Amino acid sequence: MNFRASVLLCLAIGACNASDSPVELLSSAPSVEPLEAEFMDIDDAEWRERLTPEQYRVLRQAGTERAGTGEYDHHFEEGDYLCAGCGNHLFRSAEKYNSGCGWPAYTMPFNDSAVTYKDDKSLGGSRVEVNCSKCDGHLGHVFNDGPPPGGSRFCINSAAMTFVGEGAASEEFATATFAAGCFWGVESIFRRVDGVIDTAVGYAGGGKDDPT
Ligand code: FE
Repeated sequence: MNFRASVLLCLAIGACNASDSPVELLSSAPSVEPLEAEFMDIDDAEWRERLTPEQYRVLRQAGTERAGTGEYDHHFEEGDYLCAGCGNHLFRSAEKYNSGCGWPAYTMPFNDSAVTYKDDKSLGGSRVEVNCSKCDGHLGHVFNDGPPPGGSRFCINSAAMTFVGEGAASEEFATATFAAGCFWGVESIFRRVDGVIDTAVGYAGGGKDDPT
């Protein structure tokens, strides 16, 4: 079952986890991430049927929408962004920010298994391409000029995604609550677990009115 992990702090120990830089993401990512079986055999003709022309151009031909024209560039409702090709959870509104670059920007993906990375030399230099881990659709690129503490800017095409509002998403999932120390570190680990679509942390409270 998919679930949201709610981690309550009992004892705060250890340092918080920060995002990896794009170069570290590229070097640490699996070179060949297994694709979902149902998407491996989809041929080009079927992708053209499944997707709109703009979705096909971005997802299957590594296209880029014109800056400032995407549906989600200035979209800040609470919810999740899914792959327009396969429905994979890619990003959350909690990590979306206004970078001013002309495309939707996120500080991190939904979890460590949501996306894969490739070295993209198509424009002469070297950029880190971001792809959907389930259907291998092209999403955009990740740069190292994002906000602290991670410093990553996931620059993603709106056409590669569909948005699901928080209320709609919550109807499909159950919530599990765990007690653990260093809740930021535990949350980071939970985000890498298959089936976890969201996490939230907080204090259990105990007998004190205002626990620290
Ligand atoms: Fe996908």
